[in-house]
Amino acid sequence: VSRILIVEDEHNLALGLRANLEVESHEVVVAGDGESALAAVDAFKPELVILDLMLPGIDGYEILERLRSMGVNVPVLILSARAEEIDKVRGFRTGADDYVTKPFGVMELMLRVQALLRRSAVPPSPTRFAFGEVTVDVENRMAWRAGREVVLTPRAFDLLLALIDKIDRPVTRQELLRTVWQYDSSVSTRTVDAHVAELRRKLEVLPGEPKHILTVHRVGYRLRA
Ligand code: CA
Repeated sequence: VSRILIVEDEHNLALGLRANLEVESHEVVVAGDGESALAAVDAFKPELVILDLMLPGIDGYEILERLRSMGVNVPVLILSARAEEIDKVRGFRTGADDYVTKPFGVMELMLRVQALLRRSAVPPSPTRFAFGEVTVDVENRMAWRAGREVVLTPRAFDLLLALIDKIDRPVTRQELLRTVWQYDSSVSTRTVDAHVAELRRKLEVLPGEPKHILTVHRVGYRLRA
């Protein structure tokens, strides 16, 4: 499901397009002129804009120019009766991502829309993390060593996440106390050390000679990838 803005002053054409996009379960807003198009970009935050060029008031080229100069990088597909190469060149130079001429085939347009959305999709942030023989599933709060599940106490798991967050950089005990124990005054830096010991016991091959959960002398700890 994506938010798509159609900027089109031919009412019936806009409605037909909207119906086709809604069948693909996209959320669609139609703007009939330049002013309302710019307002809709601001309010609706579309993930794709289908942009007609010949519009009352501000034309399509100028809408595109304004969006790009404001740093709005939403993919824009120009849909226009202007079929000359010079129009297309101007469209692409202004910052369009695709250009379809009217009359157009609905199937082709839908495929182009899909391709643009796919290209601009933000990749999901990784929820799995691995170091040495250890794999951590951040979202489901699970950990494995050499393929076997390791059960960590909730605090030890939070501590592990805090170390993963700063991977390869030293983290002070104070910082870990703040992040994991949120200034609980009954907790001392020794608590941090005790939980680090738990992590080493469960995750290191040789807990006495850690290869990943390292002590940084006089500072704290560092997780080595
Ligand atoms: Ca038009």
